[in-house]
Amino acid sequence: MHYRQLGRTGLKVSVLSYGASPLGNAFRPIDEGEGIRTVRTALDLGINFLDTSPHYGVTRSETVLGRALQGVPRESYHLATKLGQYGEGHFDFSAARVATSFNESCRRLGTDYIDVLHCHDIEFADHNQIVNETLPAMIKLREAGRVGHLGLTGLPLKVFPSILDRVPDGTVEAVLSFCRYCLNDTGLEALLPYLQKKGVGVINASATGMGLLTGRGGPDWHPAPPAIKAGCRRAVEYCASVGADITSLALQFAVHHPGIATTLVGTASPDNIRKNVAAIEAPIDFELMAKVLAVLQPIHNHNFTRGRPENRDALIP
Ligand code: NAD
Repeated sequence: MHYRQLGRTGLKVSVLSYGASPLGNAFRPIDEGEGIRTVRTALDLGINFLDTSPHYGVTRSETVLGRALQGVPRESYHLATKLGQYGEGHFDFSAARVATSFNESCRRLGTDYIDVLHCHDIEFADHNQIVNETLPAMIKLREAGRVGHLGLTGLPLKVFPSILDRVPDGTVEAVLSFCRYCLNDTGLEALLPYLQKKGVGVINASATGMGLLTGRGGPDWHPAPPAIKAGCRRAVEYCASVGADITSLALQFAVHHPGIATTLVGTASPDNIRKNVAAIEAPIDFELMAKVLAVLQPIHNHNFTRGRPENRDALIP
């Protein structure tokens, strides 16, 4: 496993990291024991950064992750969780909720310290509230030594400068972007020089496009329009026709970018996490990658958006 610095946080994170949304049944009902074995396998393979949220499975992901981490030395991994989103359509970015949310997350995770605390999916928030209320409450937790570093997550890319331009550098130390640096969409790349100048570490998620670049395809709730789903399916079928594994290629593509500190992958299968780590440690077949990128070219950077109207990216459907 290779490790990279996460911006200026001082955290050295594994280039492939573990996303715990499947532990909250995000993609399918899972077996808890399998989920726990997956986390332990990830740690055994050198993954040292774990991401969850009270939103995933409405606290189930944090609870199962907490069980998986029982007895594991706290200093052997970095833990990220979030606040502000609590189940489908339930948002609360108030200062009062910041403190209660954080304490509840710690209890479920069996710790009193969170390495990276994110404000979850800020496209759904009033950015005045984030700047004037949510972040100041989060800063208090950092000043109290309960949180190492603060982050923001979101789907539209414009939400990051919208906040970062309004707070002193160093306030926000990491961002988590998803579905925007993968084989079919490299929109995040244009933002990397800005984030680097600000000293903000980049966490990439959903290199498979939340499952679109896997044999199983995306879940029923996947928000991409049919053209994007069909375009990704063509790439999946192309890989299958030449005996290649699209998920392995998708992870290799994301992890290869030196400007991205880490790429989260979600799975509740020990076999899949083993396969994923093996994939990023294997040499990349650049010829195959070029062919798959060509198959995806008709939908390259076509995206989907969400959130408040003022927070949405311009759309290429
Ligand atoms: P992902 O790209 O990791 O895809 C997950 C899907 O891929 C699941 O269906 C999983 O079963 C499947 N998969 C994983 N490995 C596989 C393999 N080897 N073979 C076949 N299928 C495989 O997308 P994701 O789960 O959305 O993102 C990863 C993590 O990033 C999440 O768990 C979460 O922690 C984080 N995330 C955060 C946000 C946010 O903060 N807003 C958004 C998206 C993701």
